[in-house]
Amino acid sequence: MKLKDKVALVTGASRGIGKAIAIRLAQDGCHVVVNYIKEVTQANAVVKTIEKLGRKAIAIQADVADEKQVKAMVEKSLAFFGQIDILVNNAGIVFDVPLFERTVEQWKRTMEVNLLGVFLCSKYVAYAMKKKKTGTIINIASTNGIHTYHPDSIDYSATKAGVINLTKSLAHELSPFIRVNCVAPGWVDTDMNKELPKDYIKKETEHVYLKRFAKPEEMASVVSFLASEDASYMTGSILVVDGGYP
Ligand code: NAP
Repeated sequence: MKLKDKVALVTGASRGIGKAIAIRLAQDGCHVVVNYIKEVTQANAVVKTIEKLGRKAIAIQADVADEKQVKAMVEKSLAFFGQIDILVNNAGIVFDVPLFERTVEQWKRTMEVNLLGVFLCSKYVAYAMKKKKTGTIINIASTNGIHTYHPDSIDYSATKAGVINLTKSLAHELSPFIRVNCVAPGWVDTDMNKELPKDYIKKETEHVYLKRFAKPEEMASVVSFLASEDASYMTGSILVVDGGYP
């Protein structure tokens, strides 16, 4: 168990990539804080899965875009586990809407969850990590933050470019004791993509060199690597995990 008795806080861990990350880190030996915003039943199911692995877990509801709720989540996590060694900023949303139909509310909410949320969780968790002079943060961006190949998610792409930049700034600011890295996934088979038109998904699948979307577990294994001592000399790095894309 390469992460035995470490404590991980994973945002947006009730479903999709976050759920796979929470379970993978537990398999590696972590105790886990399972953050969610709405899906309490799914968050509790993730907690049960982790407990069956012999690790401890709690589900904490908090909107990562709300400073008071983030602060309370971090305080509750520290009260329960006494430490946070690994923060995975995974929670994210997308509104797939063309430019001329996009509203200011959608734009602002995307910015708040995807970018402000990463800043807030990093700020409050890093404060506790800094006191212990150890810890690691992993941000989940997207290849949308590097290329802009989905025209209906301009604000989403802008937030993910922001997360990539924020990763580098935090890596600098929090050095030398806290490592901060980023995973930029390509297409992953989760709820986030379930409303996309079938013909669009087919076209995109054809573009990917490996001819399929990733499984969430294929992102979790990379996060597991970055969280571990195997990545001890990595900070400020952006790992693209997209199955090959032109
Ligand atoms: P998903 O299946 O839609 O799951 C989203 C998760 O985020 C859920 O656990 C949800 O909680 C949580 N969440 C949403 N808003 C939140 C908020 N304000 N505060 C706290 N939690 C919140 O998404 P996913 O596909 O797993 O995506 C996870 C991350 O990977 C995101 O950052 C996304 O941008 C990124 N990503 C995804 C893909 C992809 O193709 N799927 C590609 C590149 C990057 P509830 O269950 O309670 O609603």
